[in-house]
Amino acid sequence: MATPGDHADPLAAPITCLRGVGAERAQLLGRLGITRIGELLLHRPRRYEDRRKLVAIRELKAGEAATVRGKIIAAGGKNFRHGARRLFECVLDDGTAHLHLRWWRAQPWMENYFVRDREVLAFGKTGSLRPRTFEHPETEFIESGEDDFIHVNRIVPVHPLTEGITARVMRSLIWRALEHYAAALTEPEWGRRLAAQPPPDLSPPSVVALDQWPRARAIRQLHFPDELADAEAARQRLALDEFVALQLEILSRRKRFEARAGARPCAGTNRLIKPFLASLGFPLTPAQTRVLREIRNDMGGAHPMRRLLQGDVGSGKTVVAAATALMAVESGFNVALMAPTEILAAQHHHNFSRWFAPLGVPVALHTGANKTSARPAAAPSSHPAPPPTLYIGTHALVARGFVLSRLGLVVIDEQHKFGVAQREQLVRKGNYPHLLVMTATPIPRTLGLTLYGDLDLSLIDRPPAGRGAIKTFLRSSARRPQVWAFLRQQLRLGRQAYVVYPRVEDNADGLKAVTKEWKGLREQLAPFRIGLLHGRLKPEENERTMAGFRNRTLHVLLATSLIEVGVDVANASVMLIENAEAFGLSQLHQLRGRIGRGTETSYCILLSDAPDPTARERLQTLVETTDGFRIAEADLRLRGPGELLGQQQSGLPSFRFGSLADDLLLVQQARGLAAAVLATKD
Ligand code: ADP
Ligand code: MG
Repeated sequence: MATPGDHADPLAAPITCLRGVGAERAQLLGRLGITRIGELLLHRPRRYEDRRKLVAIRELKAGEAATVRGKIIAAGGKNFRHGARRLFECVLDDGTAHLHLRWWRAQPWMENYFVRDREVLAFGKTGSLRPRTFEHPETEFIESGEDDFIHVNRIVPVHPLTEGITARVMRSLIWRALEHYAAALTEPEWGRRLAAQPPPDLSPPSVVALDQWPRARAIRQLHFPDELADAEAARQRLALDEFVALQLEILSRRKRFEARAGARPCAGTNRLIKPFLASLGFPLTPAQTRVLREIRNDMGGAHPMRRLLQGDVGSGKTVVAAATALMAVESGFNVALMAPTEILAAQHHHNFSRWFAPLGVPVALHTGANKTSARPAAAPSSHPAPPPTLYIGTHALVARGFVLSRLGLVVIDEQHKFGVAQREQLVRKGNYPHLLVMTATPIPRTLGLTLYGDLDLSLIDRPPAGRGAIKTFLRSSARRPQVWAFLRQQLRLGRQAYVVYPRVEDNADGLKAVTKEWKGLREQLAPFRIGLLHGRLKPEENERTMAGFRNRTLHVLLATSLIEVGVDVANASVMLIENAEAFGLSQLHQLRGRIGRGTETSYCILLSDAPDPTARERLQTLVETTDGFRIAEADLRLRGPGELLGQQQSGLPSFRFGSLADDLLLVQQARGLAAAVLATKD
């Protein structure tokens, strides 16, 4: 706890406290998000230049980036043919050879700066060696002796800059700040707490050795590292601090939650689950049975369950959700199940009604389009309480007008389509019942610990046996005739197919749109019947189409990625995706998860003409593996967490030093540290 007197943090001082920063520079720095000393000190270099060993101009190799130091022996601008562009060039001599520095768009100030006899550092890459030339190099002048140990003869940082602040100015300011505020570079609160009360066992993994890397050293080495490896170690220490702060927040949220909320006893009696499981027509897999046991333990525990059920597409999470719902119902409580789309809510309503009707358990649908279902109004005391009910819906369940009473359990399906905030809204509305969160998007561990760090994890690691294989092909549009012939052949065999385009309407971006292709496709595939499904149709229309596809009066479903989540039709065994490059990898994996649900071999065909080799490599990942985790890791690396998580990124902080793609071990160390901190007494 801060005591009066020591709470004034010197690092929070405005940047103008630093010598050399007046109103004008402060404004420029503000553009970089730097208004306080502390922010300046955490301004992360975008790269480093090793100026201990400058390259002699004569030794420059074509295509290799290098820093040279030389004296200007000639400089000048030239006008071009049309007079529009102006070339500026100067020639450096370092005693070994000459180097031309060349800018194709000369700025007026250049003539005044690049003058004979000035000493220049230039960082660039030689394209041609005849003459040796750097085009658009980064440059820096060597000034007086005072700066020599900051700007040369060492590994120097190159920071993100803005117009009016040169690399040199930025480096000097940071150097100065490091000198004047050295005493303020202390350990964060959690570090001091751990130092005062070291936990008996702070077991590895530890990536960062805290005793060797106090925060002060890390901040110094971040900017002026002794070796490049020290810059990386410094980054790791600072990333660790970011991750610990986040884990502290996550773990204390969980702790507060447990302290406050008493659990409703919802372990059930087996009265309904037994007949339900008997009616399924298949036995639960060992993974499903194990997960249900974990859930039952939680549901009968002292604190409300907070559990994430993770299982790849088609692994059979819905049945687990149904059995969990029955535990709460057996115990006399209502249940709410929230799904991200109307289509999925309707599909769940369809399935759960079929399962629960024989058990006498009411199932109600409540979505934006379908608000007509019975509301659980507070019953007058003379009436008997209504029987425990399962309410299935979309985000409309959270709406204020909708009353949810005696809630024992909230289930969120396809959680990755919701934000953490939406999930918590429903939980709060239900007055903190048990919570089961389901997601099919395999989440890399770093993200899992970050986003779902306050949930316990159950894993369905294996799909039900007896599924047909899924074969995936990547084809260019030149092969479209063969692809369509193949599709017709599968339809003739009695299979059904999804055809997915990225757009609803044509907007001239070269991507195919369902509404545009719909008519042509209908003619092309006749006599087979095609249904059209996308987000701008009325939910009732979409539901009619889905029903038609389920009962096989429709053979092909032409859709957008709206069908990405949840849709379950076992007879559909072909997934054809046009402009596949327009989708994320995880999204394609989800779409592919719509097939392969029956015993037949299924086929996923990705059509793409993307010339970009990285785009093709991305798609190739999908051809090579059906392992959702591998795909998610690749997606995370290629597109970053925001893209991968869609909605959920709202719950994701942005890190200056940490990388969710690469820092799993750091996240784990942070979690261990945070737990140790919370175990110390205030
Ligand atoms: P997801 O995990 O993607 O939500 P679903 O719950 O939709 O997957 O299940 C996919 C299909 O697998 C469904 O048709 C479901 O009935 C079937 N299924 C679930 N569990 C089993 C099982 N133990 N044995 C055989 N089929 C199962
Ligand atoms: Mg599902």
